[in-house]
Amino acid sequence: MRGALMTGDVTPHAVSRLRSARLARSVKPFMARGGPRGERCAGCRLRPSHCLCGLRPMQPTRAGVCLLMADVEPLKPSNTGWLVADVVQDTFAFGWARTEVDPALLALLADPQWQPYVVFPGEYAAAERVVQAVLPAADSGRRPLFVLLDATWPEARKMFRKSPYLDRFPVLSLLAEQVSRYRLRRSTRSDHFCTAEVAALCLDLGGDTRAAQTLEAYFDVFTHHYLQAKHQLPPDLQNAAHQALHALNGAAAPP
Ligand SMILES: [Zn+2]
Repeated sequence: MRGALMTGDVTPHAVSRLRSARLARSVKPFMARGGPRGERCAGCRLRPSHCLCGLRPMQPTRAGVCLLMADVEPLKPSNTGWLVADVVQDTFAFGWARTEVDPALLALLADPQWQPYVVFPGEYAAAERVVQAVLPAADSGRRPLFVLLDATWPEARKMFRKSPYLDRFPVLSLLAEQVSRYRLRRSTRSDHFCTAEVAALCLDLGGDTRAAQTLEAYFDVFTHHYLQAKHQLPPDLQNAAHQALHALNGAAAPP
């Protein structure tokens, strides 16, 4: 975005780099909802008055996350794949196109340190591919790599159908029970999970409990800052979400 504030002190993560590459390819500047006015922080995409960069809670995890992003997704200020990359050190991000695939994505999927899981509802996959759990560390020398399709639902279905290089991997289908327990715990009424919430569920399944909780808390903090900025109100740095994030981040125990 032209006129964006470059903080310069934050190493751009995978989603940030994808966004820059996508912007460089744009013929015309992408217009975020809300219009062209207003400066945004390059580190968190929020207005400088609502910047989150100081709260970025990077965590070491056993699992990695591979985001396959629909074309325009990295450009949306509301995209939550960005938050996953803020928290999970081993986050990879690739733009998805039906006709071509990034060789770096194929190399990642073939890397023997990872066991990729395509996270998608089981009813769309052949039954023999569907799994509901992640192999525990003791039973697998490999680290789980959660492949998330970061897109609108119609786009995600198309991506799932038209990415033959994903066909050889198990499909991790989040059970209704896990989902409803999550809803209860988080008291969310939404029927739609955003990418950060799906990633948190996956991290939890993979045993990265602390990173999962951190991502949830960080997502809540982001949502607060985002909405307050939208309504031109200052963020409340002492609210429950900030306190939860601080409690998780402040204690220096291993994940
Ligand atoms: Zn920022």
